[in-house]
Amino acid sequence: LKPERLELEDLLSDLTHLLNRLVGERITLRLSHGAGLQTVRADRRKLEQVVMNLVVNARDAMPDGGAIRIETEALTLRDDMRRDRALVPAGDYALIRVSDTGCGIPEDRLQKIFEPFYTTKKQGEGTGLGLSTAYGIVKQSGGFIFVDSTEGEGSIFQIYFPVFKGTGGEEPAELPA
Ligand code: C2E
Repeated sequence: LKPERLELEDLLSDLTHLLNRLVGERITLRLSHGAGLQTVRADRRKLEQVVMNLVVNARDAMPDGGAIRIETEALTLRDDMRRDRALVPAGDYALIRVSDTGCGIPEDRLQKIFEPFYTTKKQGEGTGLGLSTAYGIVKQSGGFIFVDSTEGEGSIFQIYFPVFKGTGGEEPAELPA
C-alpha cells in the first residue's frame, strides 16, 4: 500500500477516458464535482480499482443501457454518524458517490454485498471479490462505504474519505505556484 495525498477531482478526471470505454455506448457516464473538496490520503492505484469496480458493477446492472453518475462532495459531519453498525466520526470528509439507474439490489442482499465471496453474478462471471476488496481498500484509507438501493430504480454507493489534515512531513512540501 502506497498512501499519498490525492485530489479526488484529479483522480476521477484522469480515469474518465478509461471508464467511458468500460461502460460502452449504451450507458452515459457523467462526472461532476462538488465545491470545496479537500485532499485525502489513499493509495492511488487501489482507489482507481475501487472506482472501476463500482462502475463495472453499475454497468452490469444496466444491460439495456442507462446512466451512471460519479459525483464528489465535501461534507462536514457535526456529530458522529451511525450507519450499518459503523460509527463515522464527526469531521471533514470528501465523498465519492457512484449512482446508476440499474436493476437495484434486493434489501435482503444489501447487508451482505461487502462480505467476501458474496456475488449475485453467475458462476464464472464474477469472482465475488469485487465489493469486499473495495471495502477493504476503503477501510485501509480510514474511510467508509455505504450502499443505498431500490429495486427497479438503481443503486447509490457512497465512499466517505476523511480529509487529510497533514502538513507534509512524509512528503516533500509542494512549492507554491
Ligand atoms: P464487522 O464488519 O463485523 O467488523 C467488526 C470490526 O472488525 C470492525 O469494527 C473493525 O474493527 C474490524 N474490521 C472489520 N473489517 C475490517 C477491515 O476491512 N479493516 C479493518 N481495519 N478493520 C476491520 P467497526 O469498525 O467498529 O465496525 C463495526 C461494524 O460496522 C462492522 O462490523 C460493519 O458491520 C459496520 N461497518 C464498519 N465500517 C463500515 C463501512 O465502511 N461500511 C459499511 N457498510 N459498514 C461498515
